[in-house]
Amino acid sequence: MTRDVQEQKVLDGVPQGLFIAGEWRDATGGRTFEVEDPATGEALTTVADAGTADAVAALDAAAAAQAGWAATPPRERGEILRRAYQGLVDRADELALLMTLEMGKPLAQSKGEVLYGAEFLRWFSEEAVRIDGRYSREPAGSGRLMTMKQPVGPCLLITPWNFPIAMGTRKIGPAIAAGCTMVVKPATQTPLSMYALAQILVEAGLPDGVLNVITSSHTGAVMEPLIRDSRLRKLSFTGSTPIGKRLVEQSAEQLLRVSMELGGNAPFLVFEDADVPAAVEGAMLAKMRNMGEACTAANRFLVHESVAAEFTAGLAARMGALTVGRGTEDGVDVGPLVDGPSQAKVGEMVQNAVDGGATVLTGGATVGNQGYFYAPTVLSGVAADAMMLNDEIFGPVAPVTTFGSDDEALAMANSTQYGLVAYAFTRDLSRAMKVAEGLETGMVGLNQGIVSNPAAPFGGVKQSGFGREGGAEGIEEFLETKYVGIAL
Ligand code: NAP
Repeated sequence: MTRDVQEQKVLDGVPQGLFIAGEWRDATGGRTFEVEDPATGEALTTVADAGTADAVAALDAAAAAQAGWAATPPRERGEILRRAYQGLVDRADELALLMTLEMGKPLAQSKGEVLYGAEFLRWFSEEAVRIDGRYSREPAGSGRLMTMKQPVGPCLLITPWNFPIAMGTRKIGPAIAAGCTMVVKPATQTPLSMYALAQILVEAGLPDGVLNVITSSHTGAVMEPLIRDSRLRKLSFTGSTPIGKRLVEQSAEQLLRVSMELGGNAPFLVFEDADVPAAVEGAMLAKMRNMGEACTAANRFLVHESVAAEFTAGLAARMGALTVGRGTEDGVDVGPLVDGPSQAKVGEMVQNAVDGGATVLTGGATVGNQGYFYAPTVLSGVAADAMMLNDEIFGPVAPVTTFGSDDEALAMANSTQYGLVAYAFTRDLSRAMKVAEGLETGMVGLNQGIVSNPAAPFGGVKQSGFGREGGAEGIEEFLETKYVGIAL
């Protein structure tokens, strides 16, 4: 396929080498790997394929820059973030096109992510100057207690492909604000957005060595030596639960500070007193943002039996009316899934549900004969042991099941190893509060289908991980508290 002139210009504008100590470099031995367009399955370009020596060079640079960066005035760190925020906003259209090319989501959603991602830089530019400590009198009265906050030290930040910029800025923003240096490792499917972000941070004045970015096709082998290196002090990971568990094990060797933003299995509860049309709107947001490829995606629709018919018909009508196509085209609502294995996994889950007795109300099949498209799908009558109710679907598929009482709804919602987010639609304040308190999740969306907000603490419980990103809590992940006891 001949590439559109604008698309080629955007691709040509992104550096494709490793970014280490302020320089764009080839990988050792000149190795590269291909980045694919999920709408066509064709190669977009190639990027540098780091080996272990390259990764260690990146940590060398981060370690060398740490003391100087920690000593840099907080206002200066904040101003760099503020300029980078503006850089992202100014280049939002071009970055959105780049993201759509490598990740697939429609342009409007990509632009939404660039602007959402930029907000983390603005938020943490404001937090940089609010790092403080405490001073108090010892209870016995004689001594004084003082605490101070200091940067944790060099960090390894590993990000997934589904939000290639926002998952980066959610870690990079607080790390920069706190005075930490870092090695960033974006996902193999979406390295270009991260390289473009690095370029903007450099233009904003970030000193050499503070941010280092490496891409690799043999990630586990390249990351492990860094995680076991005594100079690294912090690992912040967003990705799947199985990989997260492996990294927690590896990080035990150096007892690293660790943040884990892992998978989800979000319940979406619709109670009998809900505003059903509003719940359908909320469901579309909670399910279809990112084609369902979000850790926050509603994975199980649990609906009171008295409103199930109305809700399910409304959702199926909305899902069936969506336009599937290449994310760069006008009028497209649903782009391709990120790669062939993702498309195959969604197909397998739908087949498994149908084999278990579910009814397909709309969708239920792949779309087209190139790229990794899957039709927006609604299923009813899904058996409790179906794969899709017990694991992340990560695709545009909505299984609806019913409940008869609030207790049953809560029990169903909590019957999962995951605990990232839950959504609940009800007009009864007392019920809403009881449900919000009873849900075993780190976040709850009450009468809304989206919870992501740079000013709020994002994160999960149970096997969805630990640690919080965003909000006042976000910067704490990158700070140590030092206590000084003072004798008077
Ligand atoms: P993944 O396979 O776990 O990969 C995530 C990142 O980890 C990628 O950069 C990947 O690099 C890297 N990685 C893979 N194996 C590794 C290893 N052995 N050592 C070190 N790093 C390794 O997850 P994904 O498929 O990209 O992302 C989807 C998952 O992320 C879903 O489970 C989703 O729920 C979760 N997620 C969670 C949040 C949250 O905030 N809780 C947000 C977004 C996504 P390669 O690409 O090179 O393999």
